Parts: sequence; C-alpha cells; structure tokens
Amino acid sequence: MKQYDAIVIGGGPAGMTAALYLLRAGVKTAMIEKLSPGGQVLMTEKIENYPGFPDGLEGWQLADFFQKQLDLYPHDTISDEVRSIKVGSPYHEISVGDEVVQAKSIILCSGARYRKLGIPGEQEMIGRGVSYCALCDGNFYRDKTVAVVGGGNSALEESLYLARLVKKLYLIHRREEFRGALCYQNKCFTHERIEVVRNAVVEEIVGENEVTGVAIKDVNTGENKVLDVDGAFIFVGFEPILDFVPEDVEREPNGILTDNEMLTNVPGIFAAGDIRSKLCRQVATAVGDGATAATSAFAYLEQLED
Ligand SMILES: Cc1cc2nc3c(=O)[nH]c(=O)nc-3n(C[C@H](O)[C@H](O)[C@H](O)COP(=O)(O)OP(=O)(O)OC[C@H]3O[C@@H](n4cnc5c(N)ncnc54)[C@H](O)[C@@H]3O)c2cc1C
Repeated sequence: MKQYDAIVIGGGPAGMTAALYLLRAGVKTAMIEKLSPGGQVLMTEKIENYPGFPDGLEGWQLADFFQKQLDLYPHDTISDEVRSIKVGSPYHEISVGDEVVQAKSIILCSGARYRKLGIPGEQEMIGRGVSYCALCDGNFYRDKTVAVVGGGNSALEESLYLARLVKKLYLIHRREEFRGALCYQNKCFTHERIEVVRNAVVEEIVGENEVTGVAIKDVNTGENKVLDVDGAFIFVGFEPILDFVPEDVEREPNGILTDNEMLTNVPGIFAAGDIRSKLCRQVATAVGDGATAATSAFAYLEQLED
C-alpha cells in the first residue's frame, strides 16, 4: 500500500496551491483529482478579479498556470475518485478508485457543485435544454431564447455571458431584490436582450424530449404561466462535495468547519477552498486556504515526528 505524508483531495485552485506549498516544503505528497485539474476555474469564461492579472484571464489559462507551477516539483497525481476515508493514527486510509493509499495528513479540497431546483422535468432534461454551465452550453443557444434562474452573482454573470449569444433571455428570480453585485445587476437590468422576471418561482421545466418552456408562478398573485424557451440555465447555488468525507469531520450545511488554520476537528485532516463553511467562495480565497492548510499540515507532520 502506498504511503504519503500528505494527500490533497481535489485539484482545483485550493488543492493545487496546497500541493505546491507542501512540495516546496519537501513533504511527500500526492494529489488526487477525478477530472482534469483546474476545478471550477475550467468552467469560468474569464476571471477578472484574481490579483496579478489586470486584464483578466480565461479560466483554462489560470488552471494551466497553476498546473505548470506544480509540475516544477516532482509529485504523484492520482487520477481517480476518492470514495471514502478511514480515520486512523498516524495514517488515515483513503479509498481511491480500486486502490487504498495511506497518508498522515489529508487536505480536503473537493470544492462544491451546482445545486438543483428539484422540480419536475429538471433531471430528465439535463443535456437536453437544462444546463448549469453557460460557458459549456451557451453556444447551443445562439439566437434562441433561454431562461436563467437565480439571483446571485453566478446567475447575473452567466446571464451577461449568455446575452451575448442568445436572442432573448428571461432572468427569473423568486424575490424582488437580487443578491448579486450591484455592477452586475445594473448591467443585466439595462441589457436590451434580458427581461427580468421578479417574484416568480419556476415550478416545472416543460418539454417532451427537449426543453420548450419553463412553468412559472408569481409568488404574489399566484398567477401561473409558461415562458417559451429553448433552454433553462439554473444557478441557484452550490453545495460542498462531502460524499466521501467521514461523519467524524464536523460540518455545517454550508461546508466543513475549520479553525483559522484550516484544521478540522479531526487531527491530521484539513480543509481548504469551497468545501469549507465560509462566506466568500472565490479563486483568491481558495488559494489562500490552500496555502494555509499546507502550512498547518506541515506543522502537524513536524509535531508527529517529535
Ligand atoms: C461559472 C463560475 C464562475 C466563477 N467565476 C469566478 C470569478 O470570476 N472569480 C473567482 O475568483 N472565482 C470564480 N468562481 C469560483 C471559483 O472558481 C471557485 O471558488 C474555486 O474554483 C474553488 O476552488 P476549490 O479548489 O475549492 O474547488 P473546485 O474548483 O471546485 O475544485 C475541486 C476539485 O475537486 C475535484 N473532486 C471533487 N470530488 C472529488 C473526489 N471525490 N475525488 C477526487 N477529486 C474530486 C473536482 O473534480 C474539482 O476539480 C466561479 C465559479 C463558477 C462555477
């Protein structure tokens, strides 16, 4: 069975930063990533708020830069999905794909995934008009009509991206006020191809084999109607990816609880990035968490030696 001093689970910004810091500190480290390294950054068209790049850069470019920097230091990358973790001392056991590996410290960096509305037609129509990624699927809707559901930054940002491609976009939000940044709100509210539909809940995705509409209900009047659309993009939040995380690790609905040093309640297990219970889920904060978690893991490993 392979043994490591540290294993980083997830190869997004948090995981790649944690791995970089550990490797530079000379810690025997492996990073486990089930897809291509980069995480949510790979779903992002352009990142304009990551310091150091005043002109912004495309998500894939940033992922590529992270990977190139990591590759300067020899390390193992395990390209498979972590299924479970068995807490132990001094080694924890990680089931990944068909193998089991051991590590004295683990940094959980598996990020977050899209939250679903859980309404009729949604699951059945994923890939046939229901999407959670404008960058991935927007191109299919050139000169067509789409609905975007949500009121936060993702819904607003993605609406602005989609509005460049589509003929018309309904931005549907269940409340009067939007949560997203004011600069995005202003751009959406004044965009000629965006029609804002407030105080409305989407009750059903309508269609046989592909989306033909969204059934909405006005929360104030109770009025029902169907908006004819070719696609429905849903941006109603994320949930942390915790499927494989043992119950021993304390959590809130919003994510794993850590202290300021990214340590969980279980010795040797740290968490960084979007998987944590925190307010600001961004590349900059994920990178900061990753660096802190790696430094804490290094200190923990030093203590184990003593
Ligand atoms: C559409 C969109 C636009 C965004 N725009 C911006 C922006 O402009 N600026 C900004 O700063 N942030 C932006 N963000 C947010 C930013 O991308 C995230 O906050 C950041 O990527 C979080 O990094 P992370 O490493 O914690 O998690 P993630 O990026 O989610 O990476 C987690 C990784 O873990 C892997 N993983 C999960 N489970 C397992 C498992 N069981 N086994 C192995 N691997 C696993 C996943 O495949 C993934 O690669 C955007 C996000 C989205 C979706």
